[in-house]
Amino acid sequence: MSKRDFYEVLGVSRNAGEAEIKKAYRQMALKYHPDKNPGNKEAEDKFKEAAEAYEVLSDKEKRQRYDQFGHSGMGGYGGNGGGHHMNMEDIFSNFGDIFGGHNPFESFFGGGGGARQGRQRQTKRGSNLRVKVKLTLQEIAHGAEKKIKVNKQVNCSSCSGTGAQDSASYHKCSTCHGTGYIRKVTNTILGQMQTTSTCPTCHGQGETIANKCKVCHGEGIQFGEEVISIQIPPGVAEGMQMSISGKGNSAGRNGVPGDLIVVIEEIEDADLKRDGNNLLFDLYISIPDAALGTSAEVPTVDGKAKIKIEPGTQAGKVLRLKGKGLPDVNSHFKGDLLVNINVWTPQNLTSEEKKLMEKLRTSPNFKPNPGKNEKSFFEKMKEYFQ
Ligand SMILES: [Zn+2]
Ligand SMILES: [Zn+2]
Repeated sequence: MSKRDFYEVLGVSRNAGEAEIKKAYRQMALKYHPDKNPGNKEAEDKFKEAAEAYEVLSDKEKRQRYDQFGHSGMGGYGGNGGGHHMNMEDIFSNFGDIFGGHNPFESFFGGGGGARQGRQRQTKRGSNLRVKVKLTLQEIAHGAEKKIKVNKQVNCSSCSGTGAQDSASYHKCSTCHGTGYIRKVTNTILGQMQTTSTCPTCHGQGETIANKCKVCHGEGIQFGEEVISIQIPPGVAEGMQMSISGKGNSAGRNGVPGDLIVVIEEIEDADLKRDGNNLLFDLYISIPDAALGTSAEVPTVDGKAKIKIEPGTQAGKVLRLKGKGLPDVNSHFKGDLLVNINVWTPQNLTSEEKKLMEKLRTSPNFKPNPGKNEKSFFEKMKEYFQ
């Protein structure tokens, strides 16, 4: 059957303007809409014919081609090879444009033209994976590159995740004609209701595989392992999570892999305790060292550091080593290393040591005499928590 002239179908002249064509189509669509003509095959054909004519004449480029070559100029587009034929799905999805916000069929056809997002093929997404990474304080201070072996779903090595034995195995799904979804119209007491659901044959892929890959049975995935290199920035902390896009479980055919969630764990350091960006260290010195002064070594994340103990240093004094703490993960700020001075009181004295101590006890210099220079416990805590 040869096609009718598109201008004739819509009943407009060859030099009709955009608005005129739109108006003509709107009238045809209302007149021949399946809702108004249930079971009327002739009306349905007219409805489709009008939609097809409008699709070409409303598009500047297609109209030009049609004017020049007639129906034979229309063969190439539409994605279905020879000849152009619109299905109901295409027609309804254009209604939003035609009727603007006043789609008269909206109440019957849930959303009408607004349902464009439903036309996209469904994308499978692989699940996220979680791994824990243990870090020393030194690694936290400087950042680290960690290579970890992750057991996960990977793309099938035999078919590269396509699920097909070869490229000739793909076929357009016959259930959904390649759209990946099906539309169902059901009669309810409120009128006709339309629902869109994923095509059960191809699971939204729009295509089926004739010869499935023998290794993965068409799933496109297999269980395997991957060594993943993770760049840890300096300054991370226990419980922090980093998300590495696309390194989770593979989704197989036409899917996108999930993410790899890296959870940070701190390995407790034997000497240094962490307090936010600051590091704390307990230094013990002897009574003579506290009285006479000395130098001591303290551990840092960059090796040992030497500090000076002034003569007459009191127990409970906190020395602050600026910038010797941990970097902030979000800025250039660096914390401090706080050295808490403890004066070690001997616990097992020989009789000779006891005699010496007795002597020192009576010396007036050994009598506690905190003056204005000694900070109170309260002041020290306030300073520390600043
Ligand atoms: Zn495979
Ligand atoms: Zn399908």
